[in-house]
Amino acid sequence: MSLASLLEKAASGGRLSYDEGVRIYREAPLHELGSAAHARRMQLYPTTDVTYVIDTTINYTNVCNVHCTFCAFFRPEKHAQGYTMTHDRVLERVKFATDRGATQIMIQGGVNPELRIEWFETLFARVRREFPGVDIHSLSVSEIVGLAHVEQLPIREVLTRLRDAGMKSLPGAGAEILVERVRKRISARKVKPDEWLGVMREAQALGLPTTATMMFGSIETDEERIEHMHVLRELQDEMRGFTAFIPWYYVPFKTPLRGKEASGLEYLRVLAVSRLYLDNFAHLQASWLTPGLKMGQLALFYGCDDMGGTIIEEQVVHDAGSTNEATRKQLEELILGAGFRPVIRDTYWNLRDDVALATA
Ligand code: SF4
Repeated sequence: MSLASLLEKAASGGRLSYDEGVRIYREAPLHELGSAAHARRMQLYPTTDVTYVIDTTINYTNVCNVHCTFCAFFRPEKHAQGYTMTHDRVLERVKFATDRGATQIMIQGGVNPELRIEWFETLFARVRREFPGVDIHSLSVSEIVGLAHVEQLPIREVLTRLRDAGMKSLPGAGAEILVERVRKRISARKVKPDEWLGVMREAQALGLPTTATMMFGSIETDEERIEHMHVLRELQDEMRGFTAFIPWYYVPFKTPLRGKEASGLEYLRVLAVSRLYLDNFAHLQASWLTPGLKMGQLALFYGCDDMGGTIIEEQVVHDAGSTNEATRKQLEELILGAGFRPVIRDTYWNLRDDVALATA
């Protein structure tokens, strides 16, 4: 099949094989790839609406026993710069965010073996009680697996207890590249690809929706990027529990792994191929935090229908050397400037017409 026919097939929702995914990733001219991805996005959502969520990330601890080489945020146990917030401190940060309109709270940190499951249950119950209007979209797969080890409990039980305490959905963090060769180099102590997928399967079976991420630009090959998308697509065929795909690129400046930052063109290529390859994912997020707001705006023409969150606070990516930040007004102006209409949503893509636009 010619490249043009492949793009035409994908743009109309046809499924690409793994080899076809690799081929369009490698060979399709960028603008043709973008045009096909945008056509697919407009087919899925024939509207100029671009959604975003008002959210915050509270990095409650930087103590971590996983030691990923791409991470500049963590400190090993007993390190002088290690910290763990008190519940009161986390609650203060939740208040700070809700005062600014946040509906989604992402509580996420290192895998700290000092913290027992009751610590999270008490915290989530307090957030739910004191801020009933927010969704607790929290904890990565690594933190869930870490808790299961500490407590010697099955994953299902950990997830059930956290859900019962108030956790409503799981972010797709910690996926990086779901290929064993890559994980051995960049996060050897982290959960294996099958384990990551297994936790997501359990969470989705328990009624917790999840997102899926991809951190690209470290050491993986083009084929491994498609392999990552492929295993996600297979799980989505089985469970239908992923709400969105969020590819973002690695920031190398202050990490032990170092390396070179992905280019803007590479970022757009990954987005477009994601939109075309992940035919069963409803939403594709423009992850502006590492490439910056201007690239985030361009992403709206490469398959993205969502600008992600305002991320009122965040530490992990900032510690790696990213300096990007956004206000609600900036996000909305970027969306408007690209010819789209900003629309506020919650974690589950329910539109929040009750929350006024900052530019209104
Ligand atoms: S990326 Fe997460 S799991 Fe890995 S070292 Fe950093 S905090 Fe720990």
